[in-house]
Amino acid sequence: MRQAEYIWLDGENPTQQVRSKSRIVAVDESDSFVAAAYPEWGFDGSSTYQATGHDSDLILRPVRVVRDPIRGGDARLILCEVFSPNGQPHATNTRARLRAALDNGGAELDPWVGFEQEYTLFRGDRPYGFPADGSAQKAQGPFYCGVGSDRIFGREFVEAHTQACIDAGLMLYGTNAEVMPGQWEFQIGYRGLDGESPDVLHVSDQLVLARWLLRRVGEDHGVEPRLDPKPVQGDWNGAGNHTNFSTASMRNAATGMAAIRDAVERLALRHAEHIRGYGHGNENRLTGQHETCAIDEFRSGVADRGASIRIPRSVQIEGKGYLEDRRPGANCDPYTVCALLLETICAPSSTAAVA
Ligand code: ADP
Ligand code: MN
Ligand code: MN
Ligand code: MN
Repeated sequence: MRQAEYIWLDGENPTQQVRSKSRIVAVDESDSFVAAAYPEWGFDGSSTYQATGHDSDLILRPVRVVRDPIRGGDARLILCEVFSPNGQPHATNTRARLRAALDNGGAELDPWVGFEQEYTLFRGDRPYGFPADGSAQKAQGPFYCGVGSDRIFGREFVEAHTQACIDAGLMLYGTNAEVMPGQWEFQIGYRGLDGESPDVLHVSDQLVLARWLLRRVGEDHGVEPRLDPKPVQGDWNGAGNHTNFSTASMRNAATGMAAIRDAVERLALRHAEHIRGYGHGNENRLTGQHETCAIDEFRSGVADRGASIRIPRSVQIEGKGYLEDRRPGANCDPYTVCALLLETICAPSSTAAVA
């Protein structure tokens, strides 16, 4: 018998949150990473903003399994999709939209992704490191990648979360302290390693699991990681989720820059639609200041951290690689972001244009 923590996204409006509950299951060691080996399970959707009390039973279908680094041993974390009793994906099941975008031609372009998840640690009602009167001791400047007890708040928590992600087997790329005190980032997804796939569905699943671990490890450290895109008003950086995206043709030296230019042209035409899917309250972050482009503008540029889409300098020099969409807020839904990117960039007509 092993303990399996079933994890899913609820129906909270305007931002869905992670939920979980535990089940003791009999799953053999040889099947212990096979999602289909775990039983489907029900839950009370009326308590998660996903159903009414009169018709409340919803279904959890296991789709991804990793080690449970909190319990260790035989325990596993089981990421689930939510289905209605009629067998259809529930309205809150955004992962189903990404699966559809992959099935509708997206998968043929072999899309990869790496997220830069920023977040802010709160203790009580203010960011960890902010004084009681709500003002900060210093203007921002010394905190990004800083070291020392006068500028770093929550390092023990960050180390614990990082180790938990590694122990779970997630594709963690790195971490850094951010521009505002108490603000941090981890990157997850593409690492350039043989034998692991940074495909959009896999990495989006891993980000949801890493977010669950963020909150779970926070319980043990008395800190609450928040994904609010603008946790402190005024002259303080917001929190984003830069999405680094590539297709096979972008990663090929013969077609790379043409494919990236084609993608940018397509993204420009659907800017407003992307912004609608990139997180609630993001308008408070995308002001045109603090390393962002204003929300109603679309700009791209090489090495430009004030652009909507940044093409890294190294990509321009090598003529291949990826683009960075800097618009998603920290609280964005990764399935929706990737589905939008696929629907815009990998639509069948663009395949012909780029090939
Ligand atoms: P920044 O300079 O924007 O802060 P980071 O070093 O924080 O960048 O993160 C780089 C990100 O780029 C990582 O999430 C990594 O997974 C991603 N990445 C690198 N190469 C690719 C690629 N070819 N396709 C998709 N994502 C990539
Ligand atoms: Mn970064
Ligand atoms: Mn950052
Ligand atoms: Mn970035």
